[in-house]
Amino acid sequence: MTERETLQNWIDESRRIVFFGGAGVSTESGVPDFRSQDGLYRQTWKYPPETILSHTFFRQNTAEFYEFYRAKMLPLEAKPNAAHKKLAELERAGNLTAVITQNIDGLHQAAGSRNVLELHGSVHRNYCTRCGRFFDADFIKKSKGVPRCDCGGIVKPDVVLYEESLDGDVISRAVEALENADLLIVGGTSLAVYPAAGLIQYYGGRRIVLINRDPTPYDGRAGLILREPIGQVLGSVAVG
Ligand code: NAD
Repeated sequence: MTERETLQNWIDESRRIVFFGGAGVSTESGVPDFRSQDGLYRQTWKYPPETILSHTFFRQNTAEFYEFYRAKMLPLEAKPNAAHKKLAELERAGNLTAVITQNIDGLHQAAGSRNVLELHGSVHRNYCTRCGRFFDADFIKKSKGVPRCDCGGIVKPDVVLYEESLDGDVISRAVEALENADLLIVGGTSLAVYPAAGLIQYYGGRRIVLINRDPTPYDGRAGLILREPIGQVLGSVAVG
């Protein structure tokens, strides 16, 4: 049996699939990831993305943070690819219970997924740090310098920056989904960013599929590994 046939069988036999993914899920939508060859890390900026996207940097160099953020983290024209769409279809068909994502691009929801647990927040939600007023991503994209609310407060994306903690409610829901899952599909993530990557330890089932171009520290635990583009792999899965 080929790897893709095994994947199809495992999906057919599962009713509580949980997908755990990262930046690699959106590269086929034209959104660069951080660590692979043509990812954000290899591009020329004065500091690495992990420094710029940190809480300290946001506080001390807010204008420079936003220069990078507007240029690199707001691909608002990007559209869901075959991976996002297939995961939404699996949820609609009753095979998948949750998508747990480290991505902040909102593409799973754009594809129609409903139970999306965004470990690192979303670029689509932004708040005034003084009065709490909500702003959409378009407001940030069109802003110049440091985006400010009418009240004068600085607007901050609802994105978990490095040094910031994850939302407790999102973590609890992710843990619950993982504990009850009968198939875990991990894809498009280097599994290098903690605590997010550590969450998959809560999976109690037997079958783990890993769909990732590069090796990860978790490869030894996966019963099935596919090193092909995730959009192509999931795109070829038949549902129902
Ligand atoms: P990462 O950049 O560390 O790793 C991405 C992984 O995906 C790599 O191992 C690579 O081999 C694999 N990959 C890339 N394209 C692929 C494809 N088409 N098919 C299969 N595999 C593919 O990403 P990460 O683990 O998510 O960690 C980076 C952090 O950066 C996360 O916290 C995430 O929130 C953030 N980030 C988000 C976005 C986004 O929202 N789209 C983009 C860049 C970074």
